Amino acid sequence: MQMPVANAEIIASKAGIVARLRNLLPDGAVIDDPVETKVYECDALSAYRCAPLAVVLPASTAEVAAVLRACHEMKVPVVPRGSGTSLAGGAMPTADSIILGVARLDKVLETDYENRFIRVQSGRTNLSVSGAVESNGFFYAPDPSSQLACAIAGNIAMNSGGAHCLKYGVTTNNLLGVTMVTMAGEIVELGGAYLDSGGYDLLGLVCGSEGQLGVVTEATLRILAKPEGARPVLIGFDDNAVAGACVSDIIQAGVLPVAIEFMDRPILEAVAKFVDAGYPDAEALLVIEVEGSEAEINHQLALITKIAQRHNPVEIRESRSAAESANIWKGRKAAFGAMGQINDYMCLDGTIPVSQLPLVLRRISELSKEYGLDVGNVFHAGDGNMHPLILYDANKPGDLEKCEDMGAEILKLCVEVGGCLTGEHGVGIEKRDLMYEQFNGDDLEIQMAVKDVFDPEWLLNPAKVFPLDASEARRG
Ligand SMILES: Cc1cc2nc3c(=O)[nH]c(=O)nc-3n(C[C@H](O)[C@H](O)[C@H](O)COP(=O)(O)OP(=O)(O)OC[C@H]3O[C@@H](n4cnc5c(N)ncnc54)[C@H](O)[C@@H]3O)c2cc1C
Repeated sequence: MQMPVANAEIIASKAGIVARLRNLLPDGAVIDDPVETKVYECDALSAYRCAPLAVVLPASTAEVAAVLRACHEMKVPVVPRGSGTSLAGGAMPTADSIILGVARLDKVLETDYENRFIRVQSGRTNLSVSGAVESNGFFYAPDPSSQLACAIAGNIAMNSGGAHCLKYGVTTNNLLGVTMVTMAGEIVELGGAYLDSGGYDLLGLVCGSEGQLGVVTEATLRILAKPEGARPVLIGFDDNAVAGACVSDIIQAGVLPVAIEFMDRPILEAVAKFVDAGYPDAEALLVIEVEGSEAEINHQLALITKIAQRHNPVEIRESRSAAESANIWKGRKAAFGAMGQINDYMCLDGTIPVSQLPLVLRRISELSKEYGLDVGNVFHAGDGNMHPLILYDANKPGDLEKCEDMGAEILKLCVEVGGCLTGEHGVGIEKRDLMYEQFNGDDLEIQMAVKDVFDPEWLLNPAKVFPLDASEARRG
């Protein structure tokens, strides 16, 4: 993975740039000590790192606008950052850029149960949005596994999903409006506290734009009444591809569980050492959750069990209590952390048509043997959103490169079978150079022309998303 050469003039002007930013923000909101900026050198794609010029932590939309106006005038690139949990390197800085972190923008601004929305500052964490409304029987549906840490800002930028998005949709389906600041410091409002807005769907454009078009400072989110009840069932299989075929059959039958999650043996073994989730011994495990009234739950589970039985499962086990259900989800949500205890890993994020799951899972296991790198699969199977976790050793020369090559083959396969490069983690730097696998030069040109409109000088999060050769002329 390559990054462009940093602008030496900007680096040489660091003292002046930092002094100007300090004039705009309260004490302690500008960090330039290399020891303190260390934690901002990477996001969750920790294989790649770079120290930023400085970090700014504004606490209001007005402060964000002042920072962006100044950086625009000084021609200093800016990398927006939420909580830094991106698995695609979207929040990684360059040596000549300022990190603009929104962590201090964490307030709830308005809650309206009658019209079912909440307005929050964008640095608020995903889980604490649900936390703010749960005592009134509401929740915010998109639930990335990183929800304890990740911010709504990053969720909007990456159009994040989660286990329960099969039924409720991803961020874009639950986002009603944003306040955003452009690189020139202009504050714009898109959408509002109602469904859909007049004119072009600019909100839809901003959601998933990876910090390329503006810095989101506030968001209006749809909140939903909690279902009457929910129950997960665990279904174990002795073969990955068979589990994949079962998922495909459930979706084809028109049953809509709230979640269908897949874990294979390497993941199950890692989770078992990490938390006591009580999973059965199996090569592949599906966690399927349905919700509704008791009668609805029983009806849906009966259908799912009937379909699963056609695939000779090694075990079918319904949760019998709230505590058991909580444990089942604790295991699934801890899966990435559990794998991180074993070795370094790269988490891929391709999406495929659900019917292709058996083929793609089989091919991933062949590639694992060819490259000599272990792979664990844990993913949102109902959406066909694959997350192969390729294990490698960062201290072993050549291992990261081998891992990158294998990852590229898997993502190309996702495109070949009719899917796409990213489901929910975004392109960032991780998939930037694979964009030609999915788009031709004309497609990319049109996408870059959209960025030109919002950020004509390409100062916001440059060198991400678009292959470097395609964006070179624009980045100057
Ligand atoms: C253990 C683990 C599990 C995960 N599970 C999931 C999952 O289930 N589903 C899923 O979708 N993702 C998952 N992720 C990936 C990650 O958590 C999401 O992409 C998340 O939305 C990133 O949010 P963040 O606040 O950490 O953003 P960051 O990592 O800080 O930034 C992500 C991107 O958003 C941009 N950005 C940040 N703030 C702003 C802003 N204010 N305005 C404009 N752009 C901005 C950044 O420039 C960057 O491009 C997981 C990550 C980890 C580490």
